[in-house]
Amino acid sequence: MAGKTIVVLGAGVGGLVTANELRKKLGVEHKIILIDKSKEHVSYSSALWVITGDRAIEEIKKPVTRLLQSNIEFLNEEIQKIDPAGKIVKTATKEIRFDYLVISLGVSLTPEIVPGLTDALQKNACNFYDLNGVTKARDVIKGFTKGTIIIMVSALPYKCPVAPNEFSLLLNSYFTRRGVRKDVKIKVCTPEVLPMGGNGPKTGGIVKGLMESAGVEYNSQHVLQSVNAEKNEVVFDKGKMNYDLLLAIPPHKAPKVIVEAGLAEPDWIPVDKGTLKTKFDKVYALGDVVKVKLPGEWKQGVPLMLSKGGVFAHFEAKVIAENIANEISGKKERIEYAGRAACFVEAGFGKAGLAQGYFFATPTPDTVFLQPSKMLHFSKIMFEKYWLSESALFRGIMDFFMENWMYGEYKRKVV
Ligand SMILES: Cc1cc2nc3c(=O)[nH]c(=O)nc-3n(C[C@H](O)[C@H](O)[C@H](O)COP(=O)(O)OP(=O)(O)OC[C@H]3O[C@@H](n4cnc5c(N)ncnc54)[C@H](O)[C@@H]3O)c2cc1C
Repeated sequence: MAGKTIVVLGAGVGGLVTANELRKKLGVEHKIILIDKSKEHVSYSSALWVITGDRAIEEIKKPVTRLLQSNIEFLNEEIQKIDPAGKIVKTATKEIRFDYLVISLGVSLTPEIVPGLTDALQKNACNFYDLNGVTKARDVIKGFTKGTIIIMVSALPYKCPVAPNEFSLLLNSYFTRRGVRKDVKIKVCTPEVLPMGGNGPKTGGIVKGLMESAGVEYNSQHVLQSVNAEKNEVVFDKGKMNYDLLLAIPPHKAPKVIVEAGLAEPDWIPVDKGTLKTKFDKVYALGDVVKVKLPGEWKQGVPLMLSKGGVFAHFEAKVIAENIANEISGKKERIEYAGRAACFVEAGFGKAGLAQGYFFATPTPDTVFLQPSKMLHFSKIMFEKYWLSESALFRGIMDFFMENWMYGEYKRKVV
C-alpha cells in the first residue's frame, strides 16, 4: 500500500485529537502533517478560572509538540490558501499536496462588525474569548467593588454557549467570596431565548433558574446594535443599558482562509452530521468551523444547529480519524458520530452541573441536567487535566470514563 499524506489544519481541540488518533491507527508509512500558526495549545475550558484567579495563565496552555504522539510533523505556520478540489494547502514556505484533508480551524473573532465595540475593547471592556482579554478581565475584576457588569453575547452563533452563563455564576461566587456581592449587579445579555439553546428547552430553563437564584439578571432576545465607550452604554434592539464593566463575546466568523477557499456556504462549512464530510472528496471539517443542522427543533420551521464546543469537536475528530484510517487500511467498517455529548456548567462555590444527552433527538434535543455538586466540579478538573496531559495512560483512562459515563456512546457503526 502506497503511503498517504493526511494534512490536519488547526492544532486546537479537533485538530489535536484527529492527528493523535490517526497516528495511533496508521503505520508510519503514512504521513500526518498538523499545521497551526500558534505554537501553543490553549485549553479555553479553563479560561474563566484564570479570570477568577483560580488558575495562572501558564496552567491553561502547553506547546503543541508536547501534546502530540511521535511521528506527527508539526508545521508552525499560517495557512494562506486551501485548494480543496486541487488537494493543495499553502503556507508562507510550503505547498503541501494531500490525499486527505481535515479542517479544524475554529472561528475568527470579529468585534469590528459591531459599531463601537473595538473602541470599547481598547478602553475598559474585555473580550474574554481571547487570552489577552482574559488577563485584562482578571486584572480589572480584582479592583472591582461596586457597579454593573454586563456579560454580553454580541451575535449568534458563538462557541461554548455555556460560557456566558457559567461566567455569571462564577462571578456571583467570586464577589460573594470578596464580600462585595450586594454592591455588584451581574447581567447577561444575549440574543438567545434561553441559555444553551442547542440543549433543548428543558436544560435551558434549569440553567436560567440557577442564574436567577444567584441574583443574575438574564436578558434574553437582546440583539446588539452598537456600543458607546464614552458613555459606557450598550445599545440593543430593545433599548440602552449602562455598564461599569463590559465583558464581551465578539461576533464569530469563519477564518478568512476558509471563506477564500469557497468552503463557507455562506458562513460556515456545511458537513454531513454523521461523517463530517464536506462536498469535496476526502476533505473533512469539524468543530467550531462547521455548521450541522439538528434534526430536532424548538419552533416548527426554525432550524436548530449543533452548538460549537470542544466536546463536539473531540468526538467528531475521533469519528473522522477512524473512518480515514479504515479507508486507507482497506477495512470495510465505517462509523458515524451519534450526536451524544456532555458539558460541565460551573456553578461557583466549588460546584458544577452537567448537561448531558443526545443532540440528534427529535422533536427537540434530549438532554438532562445533573444538579451542581462538588463531585461534578472535581470531574471538570479531571477533564481539564485530560486536555493538557502528556500521559497516554491518563488520557486512556479518561477516554474510558468519558465515553462510558460522561458522554455515552458517541459513535454508531454504519457498515
Ligand atoms: C472562554 C471559553 C470557555 C470554553 N469552555 C468550554 C468548555 O468548558 N467545554 C467545551 O467543550 N468547550 C469550551 N469552549 C469552546 C472550545 O474551546 C471550542 O469549541 C474548541 O476549541 C473548538 O475546537 P476547534 O478545533 O474547532 O477550534 P480551536 O480549538 O479554536 O482550534 C483552531 C486552531 O486553528 C488555528 N488557526 C486558525 N486559523 C489558522 C490559519 N489561517 N493558519 C494556521 N492556524 C490557524 C488556531 O490557531 C487554533 O489553534 C470554550 C471556549 C471559550 C472561549
